[in-house]
Amino acid sequence: MLRLAKVTLCGFKSFADRTEFRFDDPVTAVVGPNGCGKSNIVDAIKWVLGERSAKSLRSKEMQDVIFAGSAARAPAGFASVTLTFDNPTLPAPIEPASGDEALADAAEEADPGESVIQRRGPRLRPLPIDTEAVSVERRLHRDGQSQYLINGKRARLRDIRELFLDTGIGADAYSIIEQGKVDAMLLASPTDRRTIFEEAAGIARFRARRLESMRKLDRTESNLLIAREQLATAERRLKTVRTQAERARTFRALDARLRGLRLALALHQYDELCSRLEGLTSRQHGLERERDAAIEDVEQIEARRQDAELERHEL
Ligand code: ATP
Repeated sequence: MLRLAKVTLCGFKSFADRTEFRFDDPVTAVVGPNGCGKSNIVDAIKWVLGERSAKSLRSKEMQDVIFAGSAARAPAGFASVTLTFDNPTLPAPIEPASGDEALADAAEEADPGESVIQRRGPRLRPLPIDTEAVSVERRLHRDGQSQYLINGKRARLRDIRELFLDTGIGADAYSIIEQGKVDAMLLASPTDRRTIFEEAAGIARFRARRLESMRKLDRTESNLLIAREQLATAERRLKTVRTQAERARTFRALDARLRGLRLALALHQYDELCSRLEGLTSRQHGLERERDAAIEDVEQIEARRQDAELERHEL
């Protein structure tokens, strides 16, 4: 069973020195004179569980929870509160409820890093961490630096909330009923009272799961919207690309036709030139023959002229 084993305070409100409250035996009440710091213990428990309202811790601002000093002592530099819970092995493991996977998915999505919290599979201990004791610490320094630690490892507030989900433990859970709360409960409106009972009945986890699922749904819806916009853009681009492809196809067909026609024209011209060349070559041959015959005639006439010249000389 989950049990608060001890509360350790250091520099928190009136607890300047490191003070440890051990709850080895069931404790019914803490008694003391007015103003000795009884309510400060309740404040400390609420604070470490993630209380974010300074007013609810009876302070003006969060830094007021750090020991402010006294006549004999200087103020503390930081406040620290640690809750230590016994976390023994359960007699029978608790199987995860349907829908817990979705919650684990959402948590892992938000926190892809290494976490001390075991999010999947059957739970072997009251708290989802596989150690005999679980310590949760919150520290606040005067400069405003704040830290949460689970078993000495840095954690975030949402890890603390996740750790105690379904246990009834929390800064605003029904397990902490401070001074005046009973009165407030009795005087509460039926709606507010219903919230208190729902929390006690463990409905809080379902509400948290619903919230997580709604967030996931929101994320999915916005992703869907983005995907739709991308689809519309892609469709527009597809239309342009289709037109361009059609044009390219027409161009290729016309270009092929043009090349065919150019080739046919070239062949036709080649044929024409070839037959013209043939005609001119045979004409050239005829003229050459005529020229050779004329040269022969000239040579014969020259020979005859020379003979006639000789004859004239002799005469
Ligand atoms: P009551 O019976 O009135 O509820 P109580 O025993 O619950 O009193 P608390 O109210 O818890 O006492 O404690 C109040 C005391 O804590 C006061 O003396 C107050 O001066 C002291 N205190 C609160 N905050 C600080 C702080 N930051 N530094 C030092 N002392 C503080």
